[in-house]
Amino acid sequence: MKIVRSLAQIQAITLRASKDSKIGFVPTMGYLHRGHLSLVQKAKSECDIVVVSIFVNPAQFGPKEDLAKYPRDLDRDLAMLKDLGVDYVFVPDGKKMYPPPYKTWVEVKGLSDVLCGASRPGHFVGVATIVLKLVNLVNAHFMYMGEKDFQQIAVLKTMLNDLNHPCKIISCPIIRESDGLAMSSRNIYLSALERQNATCLSQAIKEGQRMYESGEKNSIIIINAMRDIILKAGLKPDYISCVDSNSLKAQRVLRDNSRIILAAFAGKTRLIDNASIISQNPNL
Ligand code: AMP
Repeated sequence: MKIVRSLAQIQAITLRASKDSKIGFVPTMGYLHRGHLSLVQKAKSECDIVVVSIFVNPAQFGPKEDLAKYPRDLDRDLAMLKDLGVDYVFVPDGKKMYPPPYKTWVEVKGLSDVLCGASRPGHFVGVATIVLKLVNLVNAHFMYMGEKDFQQIAVLKTMLNDLNHPCKIISCPIIRESDGLAMSSRNIYLSALERQNATCLSQAIKEGQRMYESGEKNSIIIINAMRDIILKAGLKPDYISCVDSNSLKAQRVLRDNSRIILAAFAGKTRLIDNASIISQNPNL
């Protein structure tokens, strides 16, 4: 496994390799867990060369967010990736990614300012910009992304399609702890009590699915029931929505393609989760 820090070097290596090899790419912010590793494993099984990036992208954090304290452990991350047989780990220097005077930003209108984008202004501009830069730098044919960040996938699929970019996104299922909590690098912030209470998110989703499957089609009734579960557990909902899986438009009347999507605060930690309205994951 080769660790590459130079932008010019990763671009030259992957450009050469992309002529006769399929390049699978997994962008991450590091502090890896089994969710990230599931993406790497899928990329390994489908591509000739796997590139993982580790970069805590300052452009996607708001001024009051957790950029400075975002967890980092590069040595541990590299050991995990080496065990999985990753070919290249790209660890760029922040100053090289946005050299002053940096001027170019990517905005996917409509999809970037709803749900998480409404609570985190500018977040998806930061995400879209860095991901476009990264897929260009690593010459990725396929990019492996987790449904944990469902809106992120919708934004990036639209960006790649609108810009006629050849890279294809492969969506991968959410990996959860055994009690249902979606794995996240930010779970480390949770106190023991917050960690215990955070299971209410997947429980709320499960209740939403149960209500839908027993005939309830009114999203307001389902959302209210989910909000009660989350509030009772002591978390503060940021948003809870039922949306069309493709357009992310809120739906009054639910259909089989609807997606439950939510964010909530456990103390100061903002957690997100989502699932299809139809239960598919027995671990949820
Ligand atoms: P991050 O390091 O949080 O930016 O995440 C990097 C990639 O890992 C993104 O595509 C995430 O959606 C994905 N990811 C994060 N957590 C999980 C999870 N629990 N299950 C599956 N994929 C995940």
